[in-house]
Order: sequence, then structure tokens, then C-alpha cells
Amino acid sequence: MLFMDSHAHLNDPAFDTDRDFLLTHTLPQAGLVGSIEIGCAPNEWEPALALAADYPQLVHAVLGVHPEYAPQYHPEDAPRLTQLMKDEHVVALGEIGLDYTCLTESPLEKQHALFIHMLELANQVQKPIVLHVRRENEDYSVYQDCFSALKHHFKGKTTTAYPGVLHCFCARYEEAKQALDQGFLLGINGCFTYKKNEYIREAVKKAGLQHIILETDCPYLSPQGKRGERNDPSNIPLIAQWTADYLNVPVETLAEITTQNTKRLYGLQ
Ligand SMILES: [Zn+2]
Repeated sequence: MLFMDSHAHLNDPAFDTDRDFLLTHTLPQAGLVGSIEIGCAPNEWEPALALAADYPQLVHAVLGVHPEYAPQYHPEDAPRLTQLMKDEHVVALGEIGLDYTCLTESPLEKQHALFIHMLELANQVQKPIVLHVRRENEDYSVYQDCFSALKHHFKGKTTTAYPGVLHCFCARYEEAKQALDQGFLLGINGCFTYKKNEYIREAVKKAGLQHIILETDCPYLSPQGKRGERNDPSNIPLIAQWTADYLNVPVETLAEITTQNTKRLYGLQ
């Protein structure tokens, strides 16, 4: 079985001691044929590109500005990002969006302005987007704000098969449906496997296998059974098994469809 990790942060210092070994041994042995590296702050863009250039068979880069880092993004970064987005290793813009758990560090107005600016850049470069949407407790209004920004500012025109992915899907079917209605995929990770998250599993089951891709969001969010440990893309087969069991499909089928979806999202062969 072949797998892809559609969302990883392998440049995180958590991998400083064994990054090369992971990429040359652990990942290929686990069946990984792709790992998408997310560089989501101005100081992460060049390192993400460098990783993709060093491991061109396995790593592809996504560049953008995470809503949490809105205060670190300055007008002079804009032309640099526009330029870097043209690099052959860059397959999408992200992760971008809204995060209402960090409004103290990154105020609402700044987040919204940044998100709109990023969507305008996406329209310009016509690459898919990786959405990060995080709610505070049980308040789902952040999703409404996100989808309304998409409706008003995102043309959804990309050179690949999908406009983007709602990464780290962690919501109800209502939110899943809004994402699917706009053509987005759902990114499934360790959160899907946690005992308390039955509502996520139900939403994903309703959304259907055809609309999902797998991710780790490593080094965070290790799947059930490995919680507390550092996460890495070799846990994708485990996440695949959990998801296949819950959706009641053979894991081989799930691997094939999610790998195909990831390739089509990012325009990979
Ligand atoms: Zn991430």
C-alpha cells in the first residue's frame, strides 16, 4: 500500500536529530510516497523549499501564513511570497485561515485581513489552498466566518482538481458539508482516532471516503495508541487503518483513494 501525508511539519525542531533518517528510511519503509511540508510563517518558507529540493521524490512544499502568525507578517513579505509561490516545488498556499483559540496573540481584525490577503494571492497564483480553521470550545462561528470569506474573496480556480483542503477536520457534518459544497476535501488525522471525537467520525462517515485525504500534522496530534509521543508521517498507515475500520472499507481501498485524492489536490504525478 502506498500512502501520502498531506500535511506535515518535518522542519520542526522535534526532527532535528533524525530528519534525514526518517526521510530516507522510516517513511519509505512505511509505504509513504509523499509528505507535504507546510511552511506557514515567513521564516519557514525557505526551509520548506530547501527540504523539498533536498528530497524531491518525497517532499513537496506548501507556503503561506498561519492565522496565529498574522502579527509576524509584514507588507514587505508579500512580494517575496508571491515570488516563492512560483517555485516548482510549491504545490499549494497554506496553511491559511482563522483560529479563534489565539485571539489574544493574533487579534481578529489582523487574522481576517491576512486571510483575505492570502485568498487574493491564491486567486492570483491559482494554486489550491490548505485551510486551517480552529474554534474556541463549542463556538462554531469561525467556520461561518471562514466560508463567508471564501465566498466573497476566493475564486476557487486552480490548476489542479480541487480548490483546497480543510485540514485537520475537527467539526460536525454541518461544517463538513459546507466545505464539500465548495469543492474542498477534508484532512483526516489523529483527531479522528481519539475516543471522545465520535462526532468527527460520524461527520466523516457521512461525508464519504471520496472526499478525504490523510495527514499527520506532525509533530503534533499522534493517533490513539501513540498519544504523548512525537508524531511523524510513518503513522499514516495507522490513521488509515482506524479510518478504514470506522468507514467499514478495506484499508487497501482507503489507501488508494486517499493517495489519489492527495495527488490530484496538489497536482502530483
Ligand atoms: Zn499544520
